[in-house]
Amino acid sequence: MTNDASDRLKALLAPEEAARVQSLRLADGRVTIVLDAAGMDARARTMLEASVTQALQAASGVSEVRVALMADKADADKAGAPQGAKPVQRIIAVGSGKGGVGKSTVAANLAVALSRAGRKVGLVDADIYGPSQARLLGTEGQKPVAHDNRLVPVASRWGVPVLSMGHLSDPGQAIAWRGPMASGALTQLLEGHWDDAEILIVDLPPGTGDIQLTMLQKFKPAGAVIVSTPQDLALIDATRAVELFEKGGVPVIGVVENMAGYICPHCGEVSDPFGTGGAEACAKSMGTPFLGRIPLDIAIRRESDAGTPPAAGDGPQAGAFADLARKVADWLDTN
Ligand code: ADP
Repeated sequence: MTNDASDRLKALLAPEEAARVQSLRLADGRVTIVLDAAGMDARARTMLEASVTQALQAASGVSEVRVALMADKADADKAGAPQGAKPVQRIIAVGSGKGGVGKSTVAANLAVALSRAGRKVGLVDADIYGPSQARLLGTEGQKPVAHDNRLVPVASRWGVPVLSMGHLSDPGQAIAWRGPMASGALTQLLEGHWDDAEILIVDLPPGTGDIQLTMLQKFKPAGAVIVSTPQDLALIDATRAVELFEKGGVPVIGVVENMAGYICPHCGEVSDPFGTGGAEACAKSMGTPFLGRIPLDIAIRRESDAGTPPAAGDGPQAGAFADLARKVADWLDTN
């Protein structure tokens, strides 16, 4: 957007509102505006959001307005807002052919396991259909602030800072990010203050849409990890995801089989409700490395829902994620 368009829109705001603008983008008739809501209580924030939305919606050429309110800057400084900007070294995209295969769970736990192994890791939740990383890392309710027009990632207890699509919209609000809007949001997340991260894990939405294309073209991941369950249908979709990355020139580090063998919480016996080994065979047929199996384990779901990633604990699940992290780290060190 030109500065003219930005200034024109800003001029529609009351001066005290305009003073809070951290960034303002207009693309395809949709405005994304980030406001500094430092020191405002919930009621004042709601009124600010409503007033800004109303003012901008009335502007010619604007069909949709999305407002993100950022918390106190002092909070960000306390959380260790990094100084200066250094480019992110390596991006690892975590993708899947379809939803519900545990891609977000694997992305979160891979990030935590890499951090536990001494790597400096950040996590970007680019899953526009169901951002879940705030819940998985136990940072729900925390909002990033903007600093020099860039978002400062939210710190988590696991040494992994995070920025999420969920941070750019209100919780519970149905998200209809499309096309350039979705890509713009992804750009804001990836261009945040990631200065300290040597590895950035990006949890992509399932499938092969705009976000994936922006990711490939604009941010060139160093490599991709594809998550699949062992069922045939999931594997067909996983094959498409592998092809998408390879065609885009992004090497696929490998395929992870998730929910691969059910561990009975009572007797510890392992059974295979979805079969097992499908992803390994599928990876082999595509000439893609197989990165291992994560069992279907009620503890993984329970701990994930509670915001305590199993990779941070000392149960057997932590070992599976540590294994995966070691393979990914080795790949990064040699590629
Ligand atoms: P996706 O990102 O592919 O849509 P999620 O990571 O959100 O999938 O996982 C979907 C659901 O499955 C969540 O409730 C999650 O806790 C659960 N889940 C994921 N992996 C496992 C696993 N290995 N064992 C048990 N539950 C799992």
